[in-house]
Amino acid sequence: MDFEQLWQTALGEIELQISRPNYLTWLKHSKLVDKQEGIALVSLPNNFAKEWVENKYQKIILSALRNLDDSTKKIQFTVNNRPVQLNSSRKGRPDPKATQLIFEELKVDPETNLNPRYILNSFIVGKSNELAYAAAAAVVEEIGRKYNPLFIYGGVGLGKTHLIQGIGNEIKNKYQNNVRVKYVPSEKFTNDVIAGIRNKRMEDMKEKYRNVDVLIIDDIQFISGKEATEEEFFHTFNTLYENNKQIIISSDRPPKFLPTLHERLQSRFEGGMKADVGYPDYELRLAILKTKLQERGEELPENILELIANKIQKNLRELEGVLNQAIFHKHARNNITLKVVEEIVEETIQQPTKNINPNQVIKAVADYFQVSPNDLVGRCRQKSIVGPRQIAMYLLREILGLSYPDIGQKLGKRDHTTAIYAFTKLSEEINRNQDLNQKVIAIKDLVYKE
Ligand code: ADP
Ligand code: MG
Repeated sequence: MDFEQLWQTALGEIELQISRPNYLTWLKHSKLVDKQEGIALVSLPNNFAKEWVENKYQKIILSALRNLDDSTKKIQFTVNNRPVQLNSSRKGRPDPKATQLIFEELKVDPETNLNPRYILNSFIVGKSNELAYAAAAAVVEEIGRKYNPLFIYGGVGLGKTHLIQGIGNEIKNKYQNNVRVKYVPSEKFTNDVIAGIRNKRMEDMKEKYRNVDVLIIDDIQFISGKEATEEEFFHTFNTLYENNKQIIISSDRPPKFLPTLHERLQSRFEGGMKADVGYPDYELRLAILKTKLQERGEELPENILELIANKIQKNLRELEGVLNQAIFHKHARNNITLKVVEEIVEETIQQPTKNINPNQVIKAVADYFQVSPNDLVGRCRQKSIVGPRQIAMYLLREILGLSYPDIGQKLGKRDHTTAIYAFTKLSEEINRNQDLNQKVIAIKDLVYKE
C-alpha cells in the first residue's frame, strides 16, 4: 500500500470515531507524508490544526494506522510537509482556546454507550422538533408507561441522535443506577447478532439487550430486511415491551416507509408514539449556532452567524461543521471575515464528489428501495423499478454531473431525453414533495457513507 492509500484507509477508520464536522474541520486536509522506522509523519495545513490534532486525535490515529500496519509505533505531526526535527518538537502548551474546544466525543460511557455531550438541556426546541422534544421529556418522566415505543424519525442531521441519547442521559442523571439504559446504533446491533450466531453466543447477546430498563436503538432503517437481525430485534422488543421497559427508536423515515421491515414490527412501532423532526426554520438555526458557540466559549460577529443560518438550511450537522470551520479560521488566521465564511459555506453546500462513482450511486438507490441494481440498469418497466430508476438518474446528474446521454446509456440503454425528463421532473418534484425530498436526502447519505 502506498502512503496515500494507507492514509485514506486509516481516515475511513478514523472518520467512524469522531463526529463528521470535526473530521471535516481537522482531518480532511491531512496527509501521510512519510513513514520510517515505525514513525509515521502526518502533515496538516497549519500550526493550529497541528496542535489540535496532536492533542485530540493522536491516539485514534495511531491505533487506526496500527490496525493497518502493526509496525507503526509513533506518530509525528508536521505543518505543510515541512520537515520536523525528530525529538526536538516544541514542548509548549496547547493553545488555551483549543483546549476549551474539547467536544468530549471520546468519553462515551462504556456501560450505556451514551455520549455525555448529547443532553436534553442543550437541545434547542423550535417548531420543527417541539413534538419530538415533548415526547422525549414525557418519556423521562414516565419510563415505559406513557409513550412506548417512542419512534423519532426525520432526515439526516436533524437531531435524532442528539434527542434520543439526550433522553438516555437525562434518565441516567435523574434515576442514577436504579435504571439501566443502553444505547445502540442499529449497525452495532446487527454486528452483535452476526457475532452471536458465529460464535454460538446468542445468550450473551440476549442478556446484553434484554436486561435493561431503557433500550435506545438508533437508525433502525439499517436492520430492515436483515432477517436474522430483525428476528432477534423482534424478540428483544417483545421481551422488553411485555415487561414495561421503555424502547426508543430512531429512523430516517416513518414506520410505514420501512419497506421490508416485518409487518409485526411495523405495527408495533405504529402502536406507540411517533414524532418527526423536520427542517429547522431560520430562528432555530440561529439559536442553535449561538448555543454551540457559547458551549465552546467562542465568539463570532452576528452577521457571520446570520449568514451561516441563512445558507445552511437542511442539515444541522453541516451547520455545526461550518461553525467549527469558522472558529478554526478565526484562530488560525487571527481574523475572520464574511467572505471567508461565504467560501466555507460554498464548499459545504457542494457535496464532495471525490471518489464517488456511478455504481455507488446506483447501489445506494437499489439498497434504499430494496431492489436489485441489475433491475435498475436493466429495461424492466415495472412501477417499483421505474420510480427508483428515475431517482438514480436524477442523482447521477446531481451528484456526479454525468451527461444525459451517459446517464441514459448506463440505466437501461435509454435515450438521453429519458434522462433529461427524469432529471427535470425530479428537480421540480423535490421542491414540492417533502416525502420525496427526505428520501433523496437519505439516499445521498448512503452514497457518502460508503
Ligand atoms: P441525526 O441523528 O438526525 O442525523 P444528530 O442528532 O447527529 O442528527 O444532529 C446533528 C448535529 O446537530 C449534532 O451535533 C447535534 O448536537 C446538533 N443538533 C441537532 N438538533 C439540535 C437541536 N435541536 N439543538 C441543538 N443541537 C442540535
Ligand atoms: Mg443520527
